[in-house]
Amino acid sequence: MKSIFRRIIEREIPAEIIYEDDRCIAIHDIHPVAKVHALIIPKKEIPRLSEADAADRELLGYLLGIATIVAAKLGIADTGFRVVINNGKDAGESVPHLHLHLLGGEPLGWKHG
Ligand code: C5P
Repeated sequence: MKSIFRRIIEREIPAEIIYEDDRCIAIHDIHPVAKVHALIIPKKEIPRLSEADAADRELLGYLLGIATIVAAKLGIADTGFRVVINNGKDAGESVPHLHLHLLGGEPLGWKHG
């Protein structure tokens, strides 16, 4: 079965797209937990960070670079931002297709849960 993000990439379900290239897509999260909350999603469907292998390391670095580009596009590069990956149950991972959360637009607290 296709992941929800695969379906977004293939335009089967709508999303607010901020950025796209041949390796990834960035969208606004539909349930933002900060004033700015975007997702950077690789087109390669790796279920989660712990299942990325050595061959994926260059892609992981690439996604971090894209996160900074998306931060600039959204006007939060200078004020600051946070990048988060939820891996597995205790982290609250809900979509098993690796993605980076980009959070900012306001001062962010730092707490678990
Ligand atoms: O890290 P986690 O797997 O919980 O993140 C999934 C994220 O995908 C959630 O923040 C959720 O709001 C977002 N989402 C979305 N659009 C969808 C389905 C989920 O932005 N159609």
